[in-house]
Amino acid sequence: MRILVVEDEHRIANLIKKGLEQESYAVDVAYNGDDGYDLASTEEYDTIILDLMLPGLDGIKITENLRKEKIHTPILILTAKGQIQDKVKGLDSGADDYLTKPFSFEELLARVRALMRRPKTAVTENLVASDLTLNSKTFEVKRGGKSIELSSKEFSLLEYLMRNKSRILTKDQIISHVWDYDADILPNTIEVYIKNLRNKVDVGFKKKLINTVRGFGYKIE
Ligand code: CA
Repeated sequence: MRILVVEDEHRIANLIKKGLEQESYAVDVAYNGDDGYDLASTEEYDTIILDLMLPGLDGIKITENLRKEKIHTPILILTAKGQIQDKVKGLDSGADDYLTKPFSFEELLARVRALMRRPKTAVTENLVASDLTLNSKTFEVKRGGKSIELSSKEFSLLEYLMRNKSRILTKDQIISHVWDYDADILPNTIEVYIKNLRNKVDVGFKKKLINTVRGFGYKIE
């Protein structure tokens, strides 16, 4: 799952990024409104965390523009304490939720999870594909009841495949959802990750769940 953070206070932005990455999200950061809007309107994100007071385009304007362009990525706005009118304006402009600064990271995480649960994909914590299960909250992965140890990127990759069960995902889609925008990832790298994932998930089992669709990409069934 990939998140965009638009926040001009570097310290806050970097804390959010670090915390979310520890939870296995891929995170991009924009430190001003114009960059934030550019990324939000051209890249695919699962959630946007958006500060309201920004140099360049402000958070309200960004939200309005995105909604006008029919981009419905869930938006969590960050507001300074006491600016009730900002919250109202933010929600009116099309944001989905707000959080007042200062906030605890735990609360931010809970809001982000709730927002990701909301959209059309009906995000669930327990994903199932045949006898393979993945819990996105506890990070537990099991096949046939036996625990599987994954690295954080392997986990993100498997989660993305399982959330899109039976759908073919191209390498580009995988790169843009599992890695940060500025990560230097080559399509070959995906092959390596898929191979490692197969070694852990499919080897020793009769039914192979991770399938290569030649010329297109990968899918899990
Ligand atoms: Ca600000």
